[in-house]
Amino acid sequence: MTVDIAGFRTSLRSGNLAEELLRPGRDVVLRSGDGKLTRDELRSNAGQVAGGLHELSVKAGDRVAVYAANSLDWVTAYLGIQRVGAVAVMMNPDYRAAEAEYIIRDAEPVTVIADRPRAEIIEKLGLRIVALEDLPLGATPPMPALTPESPAAILYTSGTTGRPKGAVLDHGNFLAQGRGALDVWRWTSKDVLVHALPLFHLHGLGMGLHGTLLSGGSATLVPFTPAAAVAELTRDDAERGTMFFGVPSMYQRLCDWLEQHPTDLSRVRVFVCGSAPLPPALFERCARLLGQPPVERYGITEGGIVVTNPYDGPRQPGRVGYAFPGVEVRLGDLDEVLLKGGQVFQGYWRNPEATAEAFTSDGFFRTGDVGEIAEDGTLAIRGRLKELIITGGFNVYPREVELVLETHPAVQEVAVAGLPSDKWGEEVTAFVVPSGSPPLVESELIEFAHERLAAYKCPKRVVTMEALPRNAMGKVQRSLLVK
Ligand code: AMP
Repeated sequence: MTVDIAGFRTSLRSGNLAEELLRPGRDVVLRSGDGKLTRDELRSNAGQVAGGLHELSVKAGDRVAVYAANSLDWVTAYLGIQRVGAVAVMMNPDYRAAEAEYIIRDAEPVTVIADRPRAEIIEKLGLRIVALEDLPLGATPPMPALTPESPAAILYTSGTTGRPKGAVLDHGNFLAQGRGALDVWRWTSKDVLVHALPLFHLHGLGMGLHGTLLSGGSATLVPFTPAAAVAELTRDDAERGTMFFGVPSMYQRLCDWLEQHPTDLSRVRVFVCGSAPLPPALFERCARLLGQPPVERYGITEGGIVVTNPYDGPRQPGRVGYAFPGVEVRLGDLDEVLLKGGQVFQGYWRNPEATAEAFTSDGFFRTGDVGEIAEDGTLAIRGRLKELIITGGFNVYPREVELVLETHPAVQEVAVAGLPSDKWGEEVTAFVVPSGSPPLVESELIEFAHERLAAYKCPKRVVTMEALPRNAMGKVQRSLLVK
C-alpha cells in the first residue's frame, strides 16, 4: 500500500488556527485560579480583543508581543492576536529588561501586551503597551483570510548556547502539531489537562493550549507545585485532571512530594514528559509513585513535539519513541537528528543565513541533537552536537557520561560539560548535586565511571553544586556551568 504522505501532511496542516481553536460550545474549556471560561466566552472575548487590536490598527501579519505570566487573560490576548491574523511574539515572563529588549528589537512588534510588572520593565522602550489586565475591546472583525502558510507566532529558541533566534511557526505547523498530539496520546473531549507549563513555550502553547482547544476537552491552568498538581489530579468532581504534562525537573519534585505524601493517582489517564532528558532512574521512580511511567516525548521549538513513546507501550526508559503522524525522522552526519513534516517551521525571523544552515539540501531540519535509532525504530537522544566535548582529540557526548553517573547512589542529579584545559583541550567535568546519602566522594565517583566507560569519557573532576542552573523548561544551562 502506498501512503500519500504529501496529501496527508496537507490535511494535517489545513485550516486557520483561530477558526479551529475557537470552536463554539457552552462547556467550560479553561479554568484557573482567576476564573473559568466556556468555549463561547473564549470565542467571544477573543473576537472582541481582535476588534480592539483592529481599532489600534493592528493588521494581519503585524507582530504583537505577549509579555506576561500565565493566566486566562494571557490566553484571551493570544487568541485575540490569532483572531485578527497578527503574529504573536512569545516572551518568557522571566525575561529581565535586557533580554526583553533584545526580543523586542529583533521582532519589532507594533504592540506589546504586558501584565503590570512587565509593562514597567519595557515602558522605557517607547512602544505601544497594552495592559493585559485591561485588554482593548472592539467589534469582532471578520475572520481574516489566512492560509496554512501564514505566520502565526514567533517563538524564541531557548538560547542555552547562544542568542535566541525567532522561529516562525505558521498556522499549518501549529495545526499539524496539535492534531498529531490528539492522535498519539488519544486525547479526547473527555480529557482535562492539568496545565502547569509556561504558555509562551512550545510545550505549553502548541501542545497544552492548542491540544486542549482542538480536542474539545478542557484544561486547568495551575502554577506548578506538586501539591497543586496532585490536588487537581485527585479532585472528586468532573473537573478532575486526566492528563498532566511536565518537564523532568517537575517530575522530580512531584516524586519527592509523593514520597512524603503517598497518593493514589491511578485515575490519571496519562503523564507526558519532555523538553529535557528523563533519567531512567526517574522514569522508574515515576512508575512506582505515579502508578505508571510518563510517556516521554521529544520536540524542539522549530519542529514542535514530533517524537513520542507509544501510548499503548512499551514506554522505554532513555528512549523517546516514534515519529508523530506525518513526520519523518532520520539521522544525518555525526548522527544528527533530522526532521521533515508539516509540523516543521519554515525559517528564522529575518535570519536567512541561520535558516539556510538549519536545513539540509533535501529539506530536512537539522535539530543539532545527536540520536540513535534502534532496530525497533525508536529514537534515543544522546545529547546536543554543540555540547560535544573534545578531550585529547576524542569526542565525548555528555549525556552518555551523565547516564552512567546518574546510576550512582550518591548522585541526585548530574550535568557533564567540558572545561578548558591546557592538557586536554577540554576536560570532562561532572557537576553533581549530591543525594546526601551515601556521601559523595569524588575519587569514588570517578572510579565508578572508569568501571563503566572508556577512560577518555570519564570525568577528570567533580564539582558539587546545590542545584543545576536550569531555564524555565528545566533544561540545564551549560553556558553557566562552564563560564
Ligand atoms: P526547545 O526548543 O526549548 O523545546 O528545546 C529543544 C531541545 O530540548 C531539543 O533539541 C533537545 O535537545 C531537548 N529535548 C527535548 N525533549 C527531549 C527529550 N525527551 N530528551 C532529551 N532531550 C530533549
